Amino acid sequence: MSAIDIKKVLSQLGVKDEVNQGASTGKNWMATGDVIDSFTPVDGSKIGQVKLASVKDYNKVVETATKGFHEWRQWTAPARGEVVRQLGNALREYKEPLGALVSYEMGKSYQEGLGEVQEMIDICDFAVGLSRQLYGLTIASERPGHRMYEQYHPLGVVGVISAFNFPVAVWSWNTALAWVCGDACIWKPSEKTPLTSIACQNIAQEVFAANDVPEGVSSMVIGDAEIGKALANDKKIALVSATGSIPMGRSVAEAVAKRLGKSLLELGGNNAMIITPDADLKIVVPGAVFGAVGTAGQRCTSTRRLIIHDSIYDKVMKIIVDAYGQIKIGNPLDENNHVGPVIDKDSVNNYLNAIEKAKEEGGKVLVEGGVLEGEGYESGCYVKPAIIEVENHYDIVQNETFAPILYVMKYSGDVTNAIELQNGVVQGLSSAIMTTNLREAEQFLSGQGSDCGIANVNIGTSGAEIGGAFGGEKETGGGRESGSDAWKVYMRRQTNTINYTTELPLAQGIKFDL
Ligand code: NAD
Repeated sequence: MSAIDIKKVLSQLGVKDEVNQGASTGKNWMATGDVIDSFTPVDGSKIGQVKLASVKDYNKVVETATKGFHEWRQWTAPARGEVVRQLGNALREYKEPLGALVSYEMGKSYQEGLGEVQEMIDICDFAVGLSRQLYGLTIASERPGHRMYEQYHPLGVVGVISAFNFPVAVWSWNTALAWVCGDACIWKPSEKTPLTSIACQNIAQEVFAANDVPEGVSSMVIGDAEIGKALANDKKIALVSATGSIPMGRSVAEAVAKRLGKSLLELGGNNAMIITPDADLKIVVPGAVFGAVGTAGQRCTSTRRLIIHDSIYDKVMKIIVDAYGQIKIGNPLDENNHVGPVIDKDSVNNYLNAIEKAKEEGGKVLVEGGVLEGEGYESGCYVKPAIIEVENHYDIVQNETFAPILYVMKYSGDVTNAIELQNGVVQGLSSAIMTTNLREAEQFLSGQGSDCGIANVNIGTSGAEIGGAFGGEKETGGGRESGSDAWKVYMRRQTNTINYTTELPLAQGIKFDL
């Protein structure tokens, strides 16, 4: 595929190529905010328009979602799982148009667009299995004739704030789990990818309506940061799951903490790959290059830093710089291209500023960046992946720039020194070590090793499977979503103790005789 018939794709997904309403509780759509355009970074053309949700619309949505929750929580978990099973099937049917719209509106490759929809399907399958589990523990009681156990109950209305770079997958990672757990969800998607969210809401609504799911259980409010803030400040939202930059997460965390609510934060990364003298260079090069330039460096798990042993530095960098010479940049719908556009002009400016800043701080450019112009690059959003030799302490290296800039640095001596550099940033999302040395690998994975939520051996930093809990430490926010036991955050835990005797023994041996 190198071009898509966008009108056909939109009509298959029930999205209008004129003004769409940006707030929905399922059957009902509304919006009283400003109208925004959605442009594709692929060629700069306008795809459609959305009338944004206002705070007034948001308040109506929350009211309906709260009512919907009170009914939905009474459904059995397997009955809720059955709805999510059907959603997974609907996503299988809509995989191609939805993947194409993701690709066109966000600018990632068509293969990655399809991959994102596949992740949605996979998390639905995962959630269906969970819907027959959601189990707690039975715990030994110290009191005779007592039974103590814990159970998980639905939590309430969950707000899901998502970023532009995974415009559909992050919604499903949260909602598929939250729905089987018995919660209602209100999605605040990125205003940079509004049409993909309307498409998802339509697909969910088709399935939910067919199953008489209460109105409001799948809700959406498209708006800017103001709507995100309204959600974060709202006591009616039991859990705010927020994916995005660290400054956004800090703002959400403060607002939610102030009202003693719950938050799940999935924020920026500054992911490094350590390459030791024992690395197998055959797998290092594709791992490092894909990690750094894939999705035009716009994955939270993109490789930002390479930490290379000084004994192999020149050799490794020669191969990587040569590989950068082979990279094809262009229309992401054309499978021959490796790198598509960044999301918008602001992102281009951030990229250019970061390169300048790195140079000012003493960085040495190994692969020159720049903005591409001319035929095929009309959107102005195509940039050249750059490589800059730096030192880890540079201010710019300490911060995440959401663009294809790879910082490289040397380490000497033991792998301990490389791990220190890798951990020497405020973020803690993904990390990788490339080595065939068992001792180095185990040290990297030990408690004194990588301090990230994800630590890989002989795999790049980029991407993850839905079966594992996904998230990062430190300023990445500490949240976990998707697989493993991440479902627990969408439920409230209750400890129950039952006395089946005729006595009332107190815990800790306390006597209270009347
Ligand atoms: P962003 O922070 O600009 O926006 C993310 C979302 O937050 C958007 O919906 C936005 O409208 C909303 N928002 C912005 N300010 C807000 C506020 N003060 N209160 C409430 N909501 C607010 O991020 P972006 O540019 O869309 O995405 C890129 C960032 O997301 C990168 O930092 C990337 O690393 C991060 N990200 C992290 C993960 C992860 O799982 N850790 C996944 C994807 C993206």
